[in-house]
Amino acid sequence: MSFTELYGHKKQVEMLQKAMAQKRVGHSYIFSGPNAIGKKKLALEFAQALNCENPDRFHDSCGECPSCRKMISGNHPDVHLLETREQFIRIDAIRNIQQMMTFKPLEGRRRMVIIDDADKMNEQSANALLKTLEEPSDANIIFLVTSRPYWLPQTILSRCQQVRFSPLTAETVASFLTEKMQMDPSRSGMLGLLSGGSIGRAIELNTEELIAFRSELGRLLSAAGGSDPMRLLALASFLGQDKKEVRQGLKILGTYFRDALVYKETGKTGMIINADELSVVSSLAERLRGEQILENLSIIEKSGEMMEMNVNKSLTLEAMAFKLHM
Ligand SMILES: [Zn+2]
Repeated sequence: MSFTELYGHKKQVEMLQKAMAQKRVGHSYIFSGPNAIGKKKLALEFAQALNCENPDRFHDSCGECPSCRKMISGNHPDVHLLETREQFIRIDAIRNIQQMMTFKPLEGRRRMVIIDDADKMNEQSANALLKTLEEPSDANIIFLVTSRPYWLPQTILSRCQQVRFSPLTAETVASFLTEKMQMDPSRSGMLGLLSGGSIGRAIELNTEELIAFRSELGRLLSAAGGSDPMRLLALASFLGQDKKEVRQGLKILGTYFRDALVYKETGKTGMIINADELSVVSSLAERLRGEQILENLSIIEKSGEMMEMNVNKSLTLEAMAFKLHM
């Protein structure tokens, strides 16, 4: 791995490369941002670059020196990843790290400690860690990785350099799925859109149920042509009850109209997300005008926004279904 193989987060990578170039690497960092978007991965990448024996002129790791090889196989003696499946990070775990930090790095120039889900530290653990942050040493770098930085005490936040991460774009998630997981582009395109910018979420969503849901929604959408009220109601109720489910359902519904527009404008299927449901897409494209499709997209988006407020979900979905151009 190297910085160039990371998906997204260019700004954050540049910031760290600049710190290395200026020899101003901090003693402690907080990497904060949504779950499963690559924060820990970047911390590990940074650790590899810092200990690489033969970095390139952009301070990126070589991937071949003994230090890089140990990083890649996950057993560099100076890089420690602290993570837990339990509810809290225990004070013993923090004390172990602290004890280790009193010694020189074994072979690297620097010892890197990455604490994943750092917000899981309870008060005792956080207080213990604070002592270490208050007495920084050049030999050690601490990374706190978290999706909930506001759960960390202010005393800790104020002693670390904060690096904020944004969700990835749908395209970045999709290209990861296509390139790294050999998913077909239509599936990765849809998952990218539904993922909220998280690769981890996209992988979680990649289930047969979701694919079946999408096909059934396509079938209902075809059937709703001509605006038969019963069929519109069936479409509305199919979108679900649970807020999360509805949110996802609306996004999938949106992909059908988006595809219809692309198909209508270009006549090409290469950019279509629901390529395996082409008959649904082409029938929408045939029976609707471009501006009607655009209007549908904005109706769906508005309904999605309404869902975030405490509205009656069934009523909102039914009203939406009747407004849609079919
Ligand atoms: Zn190297």
